[in-house]
Amino acid sequence: MHKRVSAPTKPTGVHIDIDHGFLHSVETGGAVDGPGMRFVFFMAGCQFRCLYCHNPDTWKLHNGRRVDVDDMLREVRPYAGFLKFAGGVTFSGGEPMMQAGFIGNVMGHIKKEMGLHIALDTQGYLHTGVEDEWFDNVDLVMLDIKHIDPEKYHAITAQHLQPTLDFAERLKRIHKKMWMRYVLVPGLTDDAGDVNRMADYVASLGDIVERVEVLPFHQMGIAKWDAMGKEYTLRDTPTPTTDETEAARDIFRARGLYTA
Ligand code: SF4
Repeated sequence: MHKRVSAPTKPTGVHIDIDHGFLHSVETGGAVDGPGMRFVFFMAGCQFRCLYCHNPDTWKLHNGRRVDVDDMLREVRPYAGFLKFAGGVTFSGGEPMMQAGFIGNVMGHIKKEMGLHIALDTQGYLHTGVEDEWFDNVDLVMLDIKHIDPEKYHAITAQHLQPTLDFAERLKRIHKKMWMRYVLVPGLTDDAGDVNRMADYVASLGDIVERVEVLPFHQMGIAKWDAMGKEYTLRDTPTPTTDETEAARDIFRARGLYTA
């Protein structure tokens, strides 16, 4: 349960339906992708272009392997007995909701056959494509909100903030448990005023928020950007110190939010 396995790339077109999707890779022993030990599906495809993305190799659907529902179930089935007690399954990416029909189908089968805890790691932009019932098999949403200021959000992601905030409000309405994730990037997301506004917003979501994860920016993705020949603009951005990270966490804690 500790091996990240890259799926062989076999581009066969980009047709997605509820029976077929594109899987980038899997992690069989993820310890940072939800509660307990996780089997993580990294789905291919993301329409964001975050400046600090550490998985730019997942951006294109055709960077993944075309799979069907049985392929996905075969990946997780050997670990199901362990995962039942130790953690569960997480759908990440890329942006897993780019393939909402397909992963919704897979989630349904995992729940029915294996009864596992299911987490969804998403930036939340694409939620309008599914009905509320789609979330019935999702036990926890890990919602990545990149910034609370719309202009700065756009500067980081090349997308708009409002759909993600609408998604958070939707989670509140359907009372779905969530972890909020915030990447702390010096010079981009660490302004104390911005973090305070974010903390106020997250606190306003109420008791659906089980925890806030403040994740210090790191340079782990740089080799992938270089390998893809893409310009990486954060080359000189430092990792926040422990004290800086804790100071940001304290801002959330001051609102009574459990923060890790
Ligand atoms: S949303 Fe995630 S996968 Fe997509 S570009 Fe941003 S960091 Fe990368």
